[in-house]
Amino acid sequence: PIIDKRLLVTGAAGFIGANFCHHWLRKHPHTTLVALDALTYAGNRHNLAGLEQHSGFRFVSGDINDAPLVERLMTDHHLNVIVHFAAESHVDRSIHDPDAFIQTNIIGTHNLLRVAKNLWLDGPQGRIPHRFHHISTDEVYGTLGPQDPPFREATPYAPNSPYAASKAGADHLVRAYQHTYGLSTTTSNCSNNYGPYHFPEKLIPLIIVNILHNKPLPLYGDGRQIRDWLYVEDHCRGIAAILEQGREGESYNIGGCNEWANIDIVLLIGQIMDELFASDPRWLQAYPHSAAAQGRKSADLIQHVRDRPGHDRRYAIDATKITRELGFQPAVDFPTGIRQTIRWYLEHPEWWRAVMDGSYCQWLERQYEGG
Ligand code: NAD
Repeated sequence: PIIDKRLLVTGAAGFIGANFCHHWLRKHPHTTLVALDALTYAGNRHNLAGLEQHSGFRFVSGDINDAPLVERLMTDHHLNVIVHFAAESHVDRSIHDPDAFIQTNIIGTHNLLRVAKNLWLDGPQGRIPHRFHHISTDEVYGTLGPQDPPFREATPYAPNSPYAASKAGADHLVRAYQHTYGLSTTTSNCSNNYGPYHFPEKLIPLIIVNILHNKPLPLYGDGRQIRDWLYVEDHCRGIAAILEQGREGESYNIGGCNEWANIDIVLLIGQIMDELFASDPRWLQAYPHSAAAQGRKSADLIQHVRDRPGHDRRYAIDATKITRELGFQPAVDFPTGIRQTIRWYLEHPEWWRAVMDGSYCQWLERQYEGG
């Protein structure tokens, strides 16, 4: 393992990237961490607030497709580790407009790999110790039937959405750079994350924010699609474990062993929020337009909408490898993590109000079409 890790974190102002930067700098307050993010609609500079207190932290607004910029950052700061989160990440957007997914997720990843190879393998000092860690998804494996065993690292790739296909393409490029050139790489394929800083186009924050506005809770189709959910802090711990001890050239599945149907998640969030509002009048005053303040039960807001085309039915992760090899296990159970997440949204209205701009609202309106 590299002792003095000097990190380039791409997509650092997004949901998981930001949580990772906070996590890493809490554990390693004196290390170098250069946060690179193009600040697309999903990136938010405020997600990294407070990290300037670390002398080794630097935020740079820029695109992973900009090779000279990436090369300059890596050279100037002597970076020897890339933790690559930057991506277009929303499946629905990939169905309407796949181009950006190809550009960032495939071409952008390739750009980073090429710069890393030039500097770490082919530079004037020859090969220097390094690691390229790529963050990927369980969606590359396709969909599971109700009785199928969970995805393992050896499960063949069968991506179904343009998003999943673009991530699969990136995973293959990472693998090829290891195999062909000897670039030292690792990849993690994680299940669905939830927690603070999650953009309210995704299911869990969307449901929380809509309950706070007494708005319909859109559920695709019958709502029985199953996902394996992991608290984002646990994902960050898993990535850190791979950076510390993961074997070069390997990929690791990270999951919560926590399968939930979408409809049950919506009911759980509704129940917890109804209880919270009933037990603490402070929230009724803070959110006068919420379902509870308007005298409604959250569950009554559920509205079934037309299913997503090609919607995968079930994802589930077999995380035996990372547990066996690296001793990693999730620490936060689902009801606890959901409670923490709800509290975070209740306590940070300025955060989600700021990200809900005009284009977001247009997108949200489309979610109710065909309901
Ligand atoms: P996100 O959409 O919240 O964040 C992505 C970040 O990347 C944003 O800050 C955005 O501004 C930035 N970005 C986009 N294009 C860029 C570019 N060309 N150059 C530089 N920055 C760019 O996504 P997330 O949920 O935090 O996901 C992060 C990574 O984790 C992604 O690679 C995603 O595929 C993967 N992943 C996510 C989940 C999940 O449940 N959210 C699960 C498994 C894997």
